[in-house]
Amino acid sequence: MQRGNISVSTENIFPIIKQSLYSEQEIFLRELVSNAVDATQKLKFLSTRGEFEGELGDLTIEVKIDKDAKTLTISDHGIGMTEEEVMKYLNQVAFSGAEEFLKKYQDSVKGDEIIGKFGLGFYSAFMVADTVEVVSKSYQDAPAVRWTCEGSTAYELSEAEKADRGTDIILHLSDDALEYLEEARISTMLEKYGKFLPIEIRFGEEIINNPNPIWKQSPTDLTDENYLELFRELYPYEPEPLFWIHLNVDYPFTLNGVLYFPKIRPDLDPKRNKIQLYSRQVFITDEVSNIVPEYLMLLQGVIDSPDIPLNVSRSYLQGDPNVRKISSYITRKVADKLNEIFREDRGAFEQKWNDISTFVKYGMITDEKFDEKARDFALLTNVDGNFFTTEEYQEKIAATQTDLNETVVYLYANHPKAQDMYIHAAQERGYDVLLLDGVLDNHLIQHLERKQDKTRWVRVDSDTLDKLIPQKKDDAEAEKLNEEQETALKALFDKVKPGPEMTVQLDRLSDKDLPVIITRPEFMRRMKEMAAMSGGGFGMDMPDSVNLVINTQHPLVQSFTAEGDHEALARQLVDLALLSQHMLEGKALTEFVKRSVNMLS
Ligand code: ADP
Repeated sequence: MQRGNISVSTENIFPIIKQSLYSEQEIFLRELVSNAVDATQKLKFLSTRGEFEGELGDLTIEVKIDKDAKTLTISDHGIGMTEEEVMKYLNQVAFSGAEEFLKKYQDSVKGDEIIGKFGLGFYSAFMVADTVEVVSKSYQDAPAVRWTCEGSTAYELSEAEKADRGTDIILHLSDDALEYLEEARISTMLEKYGKFLPIEIRFGEEIINNPNPIWKQSPTDLTDENYLELFRELYPYEPEPLFWIHLNVDYPFTLNGVLYFPKIRPDLDPKRNKIQLYSRQVFITDEVSNIVPEYLMLLQGVIDSPDIPLNVSRSYLQGDPNVRKISSYITRKVADKLNEIFREDRGAFEQKWNDISTFVKYGMITDEKFDEKARDFALLTNVDGNFFTTEEYQEKIAATQTDLNETVVYLYANHPKAQDMYIHAAQERGYDVLLLDGVLDNHLIQHLERKQDKTRWVRVDSDTLDKLIPQKKDDAEAEKLNEEQETALKALFDKVKPGPEMTVQLDRLSDKDLPVIITRPEFMRRMKEMAAMSGGGFGMDMPDSVNLVINTQHPLVQSFTAEGDHEALARQLVDLALLSQHMLEGKALTEFVKRSVNMLS
């Protein structure tokens, strides 16, 4: 048997780094500027500890383009590197000086002040440069050094002339990366990645960043205007948010941020990339789909956490324990905030409900934890515009449907204009009708049904109300038809009904109800809706299941005798019922109109 070590030759590693370390080439600027920020933060840190006693001076980091020399330079006035350090940090790929620094000062340096962690960022320079030149002068008393590398494992190191402390990274751009000599290109990239870096960055005449964003500040020092300013900075073209949440934790993970509640249009589009993810004030991505639950993506704002692993595969993120903790923390904060507004000023909350309901419902349907919390503030709206918590509503309905203590029926309308007739019929009988006409309401109903025992949700047109919510009725008052009359009526309407899929039912409604009513059985309707949603147009082929309910209490219907010819009148009544439901069209509609005119003349 033989044992040994597989040897990996370093020459092979370079091309791999160049090609596959980062999916986006432009990341190099983020990495190099982050290193400059780190070097500056380290110096500031040493200075506060008294380990650096010199003048800090101007610490502004500068990004410069030299079109003639085809170079892009990033200069800082940070700690710099001695010859020894250059050897150690730059010649040893994946030996991260940041990590070493953190280890050494573990007790006093806050992890989130130093950006680098992987020990590879510097090498991203080779994605755009043939030659990388580093000129550095350490804060310690040591001569300046120049390190040059042409993108192979060979490098040159020599003494250099450099008066001031700090590091210049000079990228000699390769021919296919000359786009980085364009001011506009660099300025867009700096704007994207560096807008909130903690050390001032100068490009041209301007400082491009806001080094002290409000999410790093204490909420007690901030005014509404401060939050709105940040919002406008992040989303210049968006309408003002309704309210916001300041996220602020140190333990068991570090996370800062501000989440804004925008007005959420009912036709929501959750893939909008609205939340921006930062790590130590460096922009990382606006693709947060695996970090926050989907419904939270309807929010806007910034999450800044050094504890979200970067540069790893997205599927890995979901399983990451920190990511899971972070996501449940955010869920809790969001729910608490909503609850707080609800309790402090219910009126104001109700006013905002329309704009946030889609968000809350989405959360309830998709996130168990949020759902539990949302029970305290999620509202149901009825067709008259009144608001109820689910608990309040349960009490209200249980009180009106006194005869039934087994199951209560929640009536709802999803298209109040089309269902007006049914809504009125229900209200005349003293029943309440909920308005559930949002995109998510179908799902919400199913969700609440699963959660609430003894509650049945039915659309207001799904059956005649007396069947749905049977009340004690004085049977003596109602005139019953005899069997012969019933058979004749059924035969008559079976003959005139427009299609075989319609079922004729006789029902004793009140004499104030219409003589013929269309209903759509809840169960069949839902089946069809579900089939339609599961795609393939399959649901389209399922016939509408429709009942033709004949009101045997109506005087007109009662006037139909077994002997007489009532066909024209019956047809007319059926057509009127269809017409009221937009179900009469084409030839049938024309015939109806003609028949009506004939009857009138
Ligand atoms: P990381 O930043 O993840 O530690 P890098 O490959 O980007 O890894 O950098 C390696 C090391 O080189 C850094 O940790 C730091 O010690 C040193 N370094 C890089 N850039 C600078 C700079 N501008 N000033 C001082 N030191 C630097």
